[in-house]
Amino acid sequence: MMAAGQAAAAGASVTLLERNERLGKKLAITGKGRGNVTNAADIGDFIQQFPGNGSFLYAAFYRFTNEDVRNFFLEQGVPTAVERGGRVFPQSQRAADLVEAMKRFLNLKNVRVQLARRVTAILTSENRVSGISCGDEQIPADAVVLATGGASYPATGSSGDGYLLAKKLGHTIVSPRAALVPLETAEAWGRELVGLSLKNVTARVKVNGKIIAEEFGEMLFTHYGLSGPIILTLSRVVVRALEQKQQPSVLINLKAALTQEQLDARLLRDFEKYARKQFKNSLVDLLPQRLIVPVMALAGIPPELPVHQVSKTQRTALLEVLTCLPLTVTGKRPLREAIVTAGGVSLKEVNPATMGSKLIEGLYFAGELLDVDGNTGGYNLQAAFSTGFLAGSSVAGKE
Ligand SMILES: Cc1cc2nc3c(=O)[nH]c(=O)nc-3n(C[C@H](O)[C@H](O)[C@H](O)COP(=O)(O)OP(=O)(O)OC[C@H]3O[C@@H](n4cnc5c(N)ncnc54)[C@H](O)[C@@H]3O)c2cc1C
Repeated sequence: MMAAGQAAAAGASVTLLERNERLGKKLAITGKGRGNVTNAADIGDFIQQFPGNGSFLYAAFYRFTNEDVRNFFLEQGVPTAVERGGRVFPQSQRAADLVEAMKRFLNLKNVRVQLARRVTAILTSENRVSGISCGDEQIPADAVVLATGGASYPATGSSGDGYLLAKKLGHTIVSPRAALVPLETAEAWGRELVGLSLKNVTARVKVNGKIIAEEFGEMLFTHYGLSGPIILTLSRVVVRALEQKQQPSVLINLKAALTQEQLDARLLRDFEKYARKQFKNSLVDLLPQRLIVPVMALAGIPPELPVHQVSKTQRTALLEVLTCLPLTVTGKRPLREAIVTAGGVSLKEVNPATMGSKLIEGLYFAGELLDVDGNTGGYNLQAAFSTGFLAGSSVAGKE
């Protein structure tokens, strides 16, 4: 949508073909329906949020920055606000408003939008784009921007068509795989906590006795294991460990804001306050109700034990569980459930200054279809908007 609108704004005559019966199905569900549209971080820091291939996006990010994205939506009547971690959302808290803004933009720039039109081939002649096929119909074109997304959440329309279309034209496809993906865990007690969201916790990934990554923020227990922003971010290293046949575990510090000493002092205060109660009643100020049972079990302290009888050794065991709650990772959820697809059109064959194909003249790429995948925080949408803007501008320059 950004590529189409920008190409038209720059003077091209543009048709946008969308296979769904409406535009922006995925955009409408981003950020749990709130649309984390970009991040307020310094644009120079965005590159690091795309481990591995971030530098490819340098030109695109500087051509159309996070400030540009915010101004763009403001101009289309959707002011945005910065939240925790620099995450930028529409003030209305509605991702659907982002889609409406894009539609207004397309309309304003006279882009012809054709819905329920699935592109089945890109036509070329002598290594130059000549049009596209939509089933039996052929539409001539001087240039094509391929922006079909990745292969996750296929019900939104991104079922991986773009990989096949690009491959047919000789492009290399780095094998698509899940990035930002929820994790499956072994512990039965985790299943009892379905829907429990924890804020201000630290999750650490341990492999072969070593901590290899750590994130602070929010996470969620699900019926299969773990999800939520910090788990999705950590999934990158966890998936790598799983692929190397290692056995990663996730350790959660439930009281990450406190030092070990502060937490011990806090426990002693609570134990004094509840000295006449049973142990199970002494943690109500410290933990969400549903966490109390598993924490007691893991610490090996009988729930009915009078609080004044809890020994120092037992308190030390409790401290360990509170700061190192262990979950064994058994796998990851499938690609279709990943937030982002890693892999895609090889960047070696794309010009980062234009988003143009190095193999086929008149062919451009934008968005998640490319072999880039960023962390959570609004970075992936920014990449889609920046590459879309650049591709759209380049197309118009060609016409
Ligand atoms: C649940 C969820 C939440 C997310 N939340 C955020 C967030 O808050 N912030 C963030 O930065 N990122 C988020 N992301 C990631 C972000 O949504 C994507 O990276 C981004 O939408 C990619 O944009 P795109 O235009 O490349 O692809 P898409 O948004 O997938 O759009 C591709 C479009 O191409 C169409 N298409 C595909 N094949 C064809 C064809 N053959 N013919 C015609 N049309 C076709 C599809 O129907 C689709 O509409 C989230 C992803 C998911 C799944």
